[in-house]
Amino acid sequence: MRITCEIIKDLLPLYHDNVCSKDSCKLVEEHLSTCEKCRDELKQINIEIKTVKNTEDVKVMNNIAKKWKQDRLSSFFAGILLFSIIASAGCVVAYNRIGSYVTAEGFLVEPFALIPLSYLFGLSALSSGVILGIMAIKRRMVNAK
Ligand SMILES: [Zn+2]
Repeated sequence: MRITCEIIKDLLPLYHDNVCSKDSCKLVEEHLSTCEKCRDELKQINIEIKTVKNTEDVKVMNNIAKKWKQDRLSSFFAGILLFSIIASAGCVVAYNRIGSYVTAEGFLVEPFALIPLSYLFGLSALSSGVILGIMAIKRRMVNAK
């Protein structure tokens, strides 16, 4: 029986993956040594498989980069949250500590600025907390997919 290019074409994927029998392997190699068309065919298979692999690698890399970015973003907001809570509480404590007093000239001195400052930090703590919550929900939704 003559080995046609069609037969080799059928065998090439198996040959490429090293899963065909020894005899088939030999047959393919013999044919490849004489037939340029089938050699090209084998090259094409190599290229295709490499491309698929590269695409998968890129996907994995993108996922890692995305996760890293998310982690960085959430630790950034966690830092703001922590700082805001401490600063807000600090303002209240400082306000109570300093208290109000009357100067020798009769002016009432109160650290009023600390109160809106404390609210401001409280607001920033609240918003970073909300952002963190949204990010956590989003991540859970993505992971559940
Ligand atoms: Zn051939």
